Amino acid sequence: MGQLQLEEELGKGNYGTVKRVLHKPTNVYMAMKEIRLELDEAKLNGIIMELDILHRAAAPEIVDFYGAFFIESCVYYCMEHMDAGSMDKLEAEGVPEDVLGRIAGAMVRGLKFLKDEMQIIHRDVKPTNVLVNTKGQVKLCDFGVSGQLEKSLAKTNIGCQSYMAPERIKGESTGNLGTYTVSSDVWSLGLAMIEMGLGHYPYPPETYANVFAQLTAIVHGDAPELPEERFSESARDFVSRCLHKLPGSRATYAQLLSHPYLVEDRNRDVDMVGWVKRALESRAEKQVQQQRERNQQVLEQQ
Ligand code: ATP
Ligand code: MG
Repeated sequence: MGQLQLEEELGKGNYGTVKRVLHKPTNVYMAMKEIRLELDEAKLNGIIMELDILHRAAAPEIVDFYGAFFIESCVYYCMEHMDAGSMDKLEAEGVPEDVLGRIAGAMVRGLKFLKDEMQIIHRDVKPTNVLVNTKGQVKLCDFGVSGQLEKSLAKTNIGCQSYMAPERIKGESTGNLGTYTVSSDVWSLGLAMIEMGLGHYPYPPETYANVFAQLTAIVHGDAPELPEERFSESARDFVSRCLHKLPGSRATYAQLLSHPYLVEDRNRDVDMVGWVKRALESRAEKQVQQQRERNQQVLEQQ
């Protein structure tokens, strides 16, 4: 910790806070995630050892891992800082077809790498774990590498925005957790793509009386689709291949890589740098606007 200079907060998740930090010996900016766990030293050491395999998880579509340590009952985990942040905060009005294709390609290659080279199932594919930088790169983070860490995280605040596949929702409710396979990640990939394409989560909580009704819709309702008006047949078909109710009917990563949508993606120029720049600008404008509105409200109340 002494080597790090703490900078601003990048975001908060259900289990901890992510801050930008400067690693003083190397002059490298990193993102440091703090996870508070009420565990003994042996368990914390076990987690650090499990996280260590992340040093091997080096791929263009995976966020670089720099190291982890613990102090008292907190695990600190340092990774590559992605200076445009996560996709949930960039998708606003919905990502255009070509940019979504670039993101989908990166996600599929990243997930395939984890599975084939690391024997890891991601388990938490969602827009907050898809990170982007101003070089236009797209990378995945927060995959389930440590069984001990996973077991120790208090499962608060699930529901609300679930990216879990139907079989996994059913498994959690019946106690049969063995139903989780690599194709559960494919469902989450499809759902994340719909959210990024639409600009919002496709099962909006306000439409349902409660979390149970929402989860029932995911398990029994029709799978969501990309809107016809804004997306080509190939993009829509790609997503529908991820969102089959039966895990065995979903496409594999190899099939997704040879799908026309990703073949088209490889053959076209996509200005990712320009898109990231505009998305960041419009996010900043929106924040200014929101602040203005808040100030206005305060003035009116006075
Ligand atoms: P959950 O707790 O459900 O996993 P989450 O993914 O949003 O949700 P965290 O992983 O704790 O929670 O991350 C919090 C936020 O910090 C993210 O939403 C993201 O915007 C930001 N963030 C995380 N990692 C990085 C990183 N490496 N570079 C830049 N921003 C990051
Ligand atoms: Mg995350």
